[in-house]
Amino acid sequence: MFDTLSDRLTAALQTLTRKGRLSDADIDATAREIRIALLEADVALGVVKTFIARIKERAKGAEVSQALNPAQQVVKIVNEELVGILGGETRRLNLAKTPPTVIMLAGLQGAGKTTLAGKLALWLKKQGHAPMLVACDLQRPNAVTQLQVVGERAGVVTFAPEPGNGVGDPVDVARRAIAEAKHAQHDVVVVDTAGRLGVDEELMKQAADIRDAVEPDEVLFVVDAMIGQDAVTTAQAFQDGVGFSGVVLTKLDGDARGGAALSVREITGQPILFASNGEKLEDFDTFHPDRMASRILGMGDVLTLIEQAEQAFDQKQAEKAAEKLSSGQLTLEDFLEQMLAVRKMGPIGNLLGMLPGAGQMKDQLAQVDDKHLDKLQAIIRGMTPAEREDPKLINGSRRLRIANGSGVTVREVNDLVNRFFEARKMMAQMAGRFGFGGGGGGSK
Ligand code: GDP
Repeated sequence: MFDTLSDRLTAALQTLTRKGRLSDADIDATAREIRIALLEADVALGVVKTFIARIKERAKGAEVSQALNPAQQVVKIVNEELVGILGGETRRLNLAKTPPTVIMLAGLQGAGKTTLAGKLALWLKKQGHAPMLVACDLQRPNAVTQLQVVGERAGVVTFAPEPGNGVGDPVDVARRAIAEAKHAQHDVVVVDTAGRLGVDEELMKQAADIRDAVEPDEVLFVVDAMIGQDAVTTAQAFQDGVGFSGVVLTKLDGDARGGAALSVREITGQPILFASNGEKLEDFDTFHPDRMASRILGMGDVLTLIEQAEQAFDQKQAEKAAEKLSSGQLTLEDFLEQMLAVRKMGPIGNLLGMLPGAGQMKDQLAQVDDKHLDKLQAIIRGMTPAEREDPKLINGSRRLRIANGSGVTVREVNDLVNRFFEARKMMAQMAGRFGFGGGGGGSK
C-alpha cells in the first residue's frame, strides 16, 4: 500500500548517501522531498508540518556520530519520527480484570467493522479466549446475518436479536448480550454497531447509548485507510460523538495512498491497535508502529544495519586504529580486532547485502565469503604476539610455521602479509592527505 510513498522517501534519503557531510541546505532539500512525498500520500497537512519541523530540528542539531555516516543518521531520525507519529510503542488490547472484556466497534458503514468483528474473534480464539460477537447493527439489512456468517467462519457464538422482531433496540440487545456472556462464560464480548455512509447525529447518539449501556473496556474506531483525508474528519467526529480508546485501520492491502494510517494517531491522540489487510479472516494483526515505519521507509534492512553498527561500534578501538593508521603503525593485531568488530554484526555477505543498491550486486556479494575471513583470522591467530605487533619479523621460516599451524599454504600466508603491508602504506598516505586520524577523533 505504501509503495509510492516508500519509493519517494527512499529516493529522498538516497541522495544523501553520496554526501560525506550534510549542510543545512542538504537537510532542507531532503525535508522538502519528504514533505511532498507525505502530502501526496494524503497525510494531513498539520501532521506533515510537525513531522518535517522535527526532522529538520533533529537533523541539524544532531551531534556527529562516530558509528553512523550523515545519511544513516538522517534515516535513523526519519525512522524514529515515523515510529513516533504512528504511536511509538505497540499498544496491546486492554483486558478487563473481571471478565467479560467488552470491546465495542464504531465507524462508518463500509469501514469494515463486521469483517473486523470476525477477524478479532478468530484472533482472540487463537489466543485462548472464548469470545462472543454481538449484533447491534440493526439498521443495515443483512448486517445481523453477515455477522452471524463471519462468527460461524471464526467458530464463535454470535448473539443476535430474534428475527421478525422488527427493527429492535440495539441498546437492549447489547445489555442482554452482556448478561448472556457472563452466564455462558465468554471472557471477551465484541459489539458490532451500526454505521452510516456519513457522520450523523442519530448515529452518534445510538453509539453513545450502546457505550453507556455496556461500559466497554475498549471502544475501537474502525477506519478504512483508503478514504484519505476524510479519515481525519471522520475520526474527529467519532471522537467528539462517542469517544474511542483505539483505532483499527482496515484495507491496508489497498493500493491507495494510505495517509490515514499516518494521520489518525497524531490527530486524535489515540493509538492504532490493529491493522487489517485483506478480506479473509486471517488478514489481520496487531499494529506495530516500528514495523510499519520501516515498511513505509522501505529500508528495513538498512535500519537493522544501523542498529547493529551502533551496537558493534567501539569508540576507543576505532580511535586507536585511526591513530595508528595515520602514523603507519597499524599492526596485524589491530587488523584482527577490526575484523572481529565488523563480524560481530553478522555474516559479511548479509551485511553487504543490506546496503542500499546491493540488490544489483548479488553475484559479487555471493563471492564474499565468511570462509575467506575465517581463513584470514586463522592465519593471524597462528602468529605470535610479537609477529602480529611487527609483521616485518615474519620471515620465510616463520611463514612456514604459521602456514602449518593454521592449516593453510605458505602462499596464503604470503598473500596476507604482503597485502597487509600494501594496505598499511596506502592507508597511511590517505590519512595524511585527508587529515583524518591522529587527532584522536576520526570524523570531525
Ligand atoms: P461495515 O459496514 O463497517 O460492517 O463493513 P464490512 O465489514 O461489511 O466491510 C465492507 C467491505 O470491505 C466488505 O466487502 C469487506 O469484505 C471489505 N473489507 C473489510 N476489511 C477489509 C480489508 O482489510 N481489506 C479489504 N480489501 N477489504 C476489506
